[in-house]
Amino acid sequence: MTPGGEQLCYSDAYLRSVGARVASVGTDAATMVVLDRTVFYPGGGGQPSDRGLILRTADARSWTVRAARKVDGEIVHELEPDGSGPPAVGDIVQVDLDWARRHALMRTHTALHALCGVVWRDHGAFVTGGNMEPGSGRMDFEFERMSGDLVDSIEAAVNLELAAERDVRVAVLPRAEAFAIPDLIRTKVNLLPEGIEQIRTVEIVGLDLQADGGTHVANTREVGGIRVLGYESKGRINKRIRIELVDPA
Ligand SMILES: [Zn+2]
Repeated sequence: MTPGGEQLCYSDAYLRSVGARVASVGTDAATMVVLDRTVFYPGGGGQPSDRGLILRTADARSWTVRAARKVDGEIVHELEPDGSGPPAVGDIVQVDLDWARRHALMRTHTALHALCGVVWRDHGAFVTGGNMEPGSGRMDFEFERMSGDLVDSIEAAVNLELAAERDVRVAVLPRAEAFAIPDLIRTKVNLLPEGIEQIRTVEIVGLDLQADGGTHVANTREVGGIRVLGYESKGRINKRIRIELVDPA
């Protein structure tokens, strides 16, 4: 399915550490390491890549991973330069996420899907883009008019949905089956490249279903709540809503 290493973030978002073997080491602007398995998310869909550590078992040496990305289907770990040598191919290591950051991103990502779900259900507005940092994010919608009262009502509706403790489920479907789901069309699943035969979906049960590659919490109770920080116009149709997380009580 994927070349090279196992990419565990897509099947278990809660795995924060795994033992692995160094499969290749390259140098670009920084040292780039591929492992035979990893818990790192390489970034994409508005979710930034993880950060963390690679720890060599033999001598407890560690390297900071400052970013990750996908190159030719492989997850590549970019090391912070530290003036000493890189790990070697074949080294046995442990790879650890900066879990506080990743978990905040999971909560933020799920909160943004809840926002999409509410805006679609209550206003029929398409999403045109989005981005996030740990604990805050923004989404752009095709929304002709927006007002303070409207965003207040959206915020309240999203918080109700999060408090409803909805499960979040990940599935991988054959392309034809995914296309048969009417809700997926609004997230422009039809723009996915022809070659992709399997489509990963993320569902907030009873609220939202999207084609998505990101990492999410398992239940909306883990998000807590959201606060709308503001909204702005990005052209005649596009409106941007900015949110931040409110920790669970
Ligand atoms: Zn998403």
